[in-house]
Amino acid sequence: MATETKTAIGKIVKMKCPHCGKGHLFVNESPFSVSKLGEVKEECTECKTNFNPEPGFYFGAAYVSWALTVAMWVAILVALKVFDAIGLIEFGFLTHPKTFLLTGIGFTIVLFPFLFKLSRSIWASSFIK
Ligand SMILES: [Zn+2]
Repeated sequence: MATETKTAIGKIVKMKCPHCGKGHLFVNESPFSVSKLGEVKEECTECKTNFNPEPGFYFGAAYVSWALTVAMWVAILVALKVFDAIGLIEFGFLTHPKTFLLTGIGFTIVLFPFLFKLSRSIWASSFIK
């Protein structure tokens, strides 16, 4: 039997069923795996909640994914400015654009599977009760 996650944030981050918090939302449970990326189970293995209430249900998760990606880029910019301020690196948004772009693109590539699944998990928990 699967362990139960009770808080809404916990269910989202652990990508569990929005209703019971026990069953996993995705076919491939690893958050960083690209195999069967974003493939959501038909229903919860524990409580039988339907994870696909209508065709194209998860298209809206693209808006959540966009917001998460923008937030990540802003966080990278703030982190680079803080590192510059404390003297770890030399960084300016206009003077070192390559540093910002390469760091942002690197994080985007590495975190893409996680952010993709997280956006679907947020979308599912917003509409599946
Ligand atoms: Zn469930």
